[in-house]
Amino acid sequence: MTDHLGDSVFARIARKELPAKIVYQDEEITAFHDIEPLAPVHILIVPNRVIPTLNDATLEDQQLLGKMMLVARQLACQHSISDTGYRVTMNVNSDGGQSVFHIHLHLMGGQKLGRMA
Ligand code: 5GP
Repeated sequence: MTDHLGDSVFARIARKELPAKIVYQDEEITAFHDIEPLAPVHILIVPNRVIPTLNDATLEDQQLLGKMMLVARQLACQHSISDTGYRVTMNVNSDGGQSVFHIHLHLMGGQKLGRMA
């Protein structure tokens, strides 16, 4: 499916039009397990509405972006990786390795993570 403003594979997951293992959802944010996990815990935290990249975020998104971080922290706790540690990342555009153009945080943990490239 082609991503475009207002729709994306992640927006369709948030609307439950596509299946995913959802672990958190409210009126603003949905979180679900990555389909190709790179760590024992690999969860994506996604706003329900499409912001294609961090470059497109505005001051109006400030509260939402902060809430995504707090949801990541909550999910880390619920998945018992708070004390052992975890990584929260957001990829941006081609050099950043972004492949789905609907911003998302990766929450990864459950093993020792290597140095970032
Ligand atoms: P990016 O490369 O954009 O930072 O991360 C996109 C992530 O989304 C990848 O880790 C990829 O495995 C995951 N992904 C892509 N399509 C789907 C999907 O349909 N369902 C789920 N659960 N994850 C997906």
